[in-house]
Amino acid sequence: EHSVELRNVTKVFDDDTVAVDNVSFAIKPGEFFSLLGPSGCGKTTLLRMIAGFEKPSSGTVLLNGKDITDTPPYKRDVNMVFQSYALFPHMTVYNNIAYGLKMKHVPKPKIVEAVNDVLQKVKLTGLEKRRITQLSGGQQQRVALARALVNHPAVLLLDEPLGALDQKLREQMQIELVNLQEQVKITFVFVTHDQRESLTISDRIAVMNNGNVEQLGSPKEIYEFPATRFVADFIGTSNFLTGIYRGEENGLKRIVIPGAEVWVESPQEIETGEHVTVVIRPEKLSISKEPNDIELNSLQGVIEEIIYVGTDTRYFVRILANDMVLQVFAQNVLHTAKQRFTWFDQVYVSWDPGS
Ligand code: ADP
Ligand code: MG
Repeated sequence: EHSVELRNVTKVFDDDTVAVDNVSFAIKPGEFFSLLGPSGCGKTTLLRMIAGFEKPSSGTVLLNGKDITDTPPYKRDVNMVFQSYALFPHMTVYNNIAYGLKMKHVPKPKIVEAVNDVLQKVKLTGLEKRRITQLSGGQQQRVALARALVNHPAVLLLDEPLGALDQKLREQMQIELVNLQEQVKITFVFVTHDQRESLTISDRIAVMNNGNVEQLGSPKEIYEFPATRFVADFIGTSNFLTGIYRGEENGLKRIVIPGAEVWVESPQEIETGEHVTVVIRPEKLSISKEPNDIELNSLQGVIEEIIYVGTDTRYFVRILANDMVLQVFAQNVLHTAKQRFTWFDQVYVSWDPGS
């Protein structure tokens, strides 16, 4: 049985904006699932339809196998954490977290127990008497999480919950969220526009574009086998070579690109003569001053730009045969320590057909 399932869900707003366009997928119980995509692609709308704040124009939403499309939000076993936190600023941490349980007339000893338990899980023990206005942004974020978890929902929906935090704190909270989710064993549906964040925290990712899911898979699948050009471009950095497929030799596909040819190892079924796009990650490319005799793929070019970013050095190489620019990310310290390359150097860019 699936935790959350969407079947052909579409949302068209009154002004004819198609925010979500015939989306179907199923989330497993206890999964850390991300919706990833650029601003405006429909992530929040999708999340709000799972929560019940928004009704699909067509399609079905299921929770634990039951159709909840027409179930009001408060009757769904689902909670949501908002980017703005939406806490009561002048109430204490304790009262913010206990609020929902008090409304439901849960007996006081039960409330105390539940609040203390969740405070410990989000690492806020000792701060229960503080007011929200006396907390840092990161602590407020934890209160919002605690409040959403205190009644043990089946599913927790998180809409860019780390968006307001600075980078360092954000990376720390990503790890903590993963640990928290392992403890509470609740399905997390996490919305983000940050591709690195989603790769870090997710079991699986649905990559969205224009109201559609372009690819659904594990972080590794999505990074290493992007299904569409959009996914390859949005996740990480990619070089695109467009050309025509000219048949297979020794298990390698020959692709003729302007002024050159490249060899690709790919299981993809393509017809001779078809137009294709070859995608290569910058970290799979290497540069050398002499022709690389080992690699089948080697294009000559000139270094146009060198950017040192700490973890690697990024070279922009203009290929002589066709004037296109390839990005090469080199982690090898030799590149910087010995200053082997400099602007306007003539180099060869090479890569393995399997990349
Ligand atoms: P995301 O969360 O990915 O940034 P949203 O789900 O918020 O995207 O929005 C998807 C699209 O739907 C956008 O074009 C947005 O302008 C539009 N939209 C969102 N809410 C409404 C609304 N209440 N009325 C009309 N259009 C909306
Ligand atoms: Mg949004």
